Amino acid sequence: MATERKLLWAPRAWLPGGWRENVLLEVGADGNWASITTDLSAAPDGAEVLAGPALPGLVDAHSHAFQRAFAGLAERRESAADDFWSWRDRMYGVALRIGPEALRAVAAQLALELLHGGYTQLVEFHYLQHRVDGRRYDDPLTMGWAIADGAAEAGIGLTLMPAIYERAGFRESTLRDDQRRFRAGADDVWAAARTIAASGRPMLDAGLVIHSLRAAAPQSIHRLRELAADFAGPIHVHVAEQTAEVDDCVAATGQRPIEWLAGQQVLDARWQLVHATHVVPAEVEAVAASGAGVVICPTTEANLGDGLTDVVGWLDQGVPIAIGSDSHVARDVLEELRWLEYGQRLTQRRRNVAAAPESGQPSTAARLFDRIVSGGGQAAGRSRWGLLAGARADLLVADPQSPALLGMPPSRCLDALVFSSPSAPWRDVMVAGSWVIREHAHPGRQAIATRFAQAVTDLWDGPA
Ligand code: ZN
Repeated sequence: MATERKLLWAPRAWLPGGWRENVLLEVGADGNWASITTDLSAAPDGAEVLAGPALPGLVDAHSHAFQRAFAGLAERRESAADDFWSWRDRMYGVALRIGPEALRAVAAQLALELLHGGYTQLVEFHYLQHRVDGRRYDDPLTMGWAIADGAAEAGIGLTLMPAIYERAGFRESTLRDDQRRFRAGADDVWAAARTIAASGRPMLDAGLVIHSLRAAAPQSIHRLRELAADFAGPIHVHVAEQTAEVDDCVAATGQRPIEWLAGQQVLDARWQLVHATHVVPAEVEAVAASGAGVVICPTTEANLGDGLTDVVGWLDQGVPIAIGSDSHVARDVLEELRWLEYGQRLTQRRRNVAAAPESGQPSTAARLFDRIVSGGGQAAGRSRWGLLAGARADLLVADPQSPALLGMPPSRCLDALVFSSPSAPWRDVMVAGSWVIREHAHPGRQAIATRFAQAVTDLWDGPA
């Protein structure tokens, strides 16, 4: 994406591995970092001096944008049992109502909130593909373009990934009626991804999705793998989020979901296992050996009562980890990191579970943050991500007036940003070399919020 060449000066910036002082960041005309130089004695003439510590923008590696319209509306228990599956039935109520115009409005508001929450790239796991009655749109990517338009309006980068979705369960041959908008096979998904990749839209990348092992037949998974033999983008799959799904997979295949995937010899560094909640150590080792990553969605997994994954196992095995906001009950990457750690503290009854002082990293926040910067880039299909030359010039500037940072020693700023629970800590946000948030303000906020509010009102007041 073309932008003007510019120089930024940061008193402190989070480069891979930790804080560095007196950092000069050069944005190239292509919107990527042309160079990053540390330990300079002074800001050169013409450099813009950043107002606070600079950190890389983060990837939100798992999203269903339409579910933003549902956040906060499933928090009452209206029958004896309320679990993932009853939530899903209610969520389908939204999925069966929303059209492209409302989806664009919801996606724009979501993207704006995510930018304020520290994310500069959104990875959309896209299965809401057809008309309300299940017929195809004339342009099969109508709903996908709605998300892309909303993301572009707010100024966030997008990896748009159409999903294979073709059956209601391991032993079903087709979908339920309330899943009629989702139907897509391997060839549909491949064609859609190629169209996205060829669209020429700025800050839009393509990826591929297999909704889940329950929703895609083994032959379709292998068909997609064949089609995508030379595809460099990411391939995502929901896996092992719920114990019932693990049990169904064992009953149908004799293997646990990740065990089955690993046994099919399909996993490689393009693959991202979303949730990967219910795992055994052998599965963690198999994923590590494959080069695949995991996408953990802590607030959604908490909200849905999914369970807790083996965070220490993934960390210690060196598996790439990315964060997703998934159902969008939270739109703040720091909140996700707190939940990632606090879930472990609560169950293990100890502190700083993710830290690794034995390997030189005593900071929980630093170990998690470094892992999700690189893991998020991989999950979005970007070969370079973070504050390094060649990566897209995305940047967060922490507000030095944030209460969490007042009086904080510089070396502890990341710990404070994560665990002192600051609200609105990001003063300025840059995407591809352009400022999208300045002094906490986004120029499109009012128009985007107005359209979002109307879209949500219409969704809940309109005809069923
Ligand atoms: Zn999901």
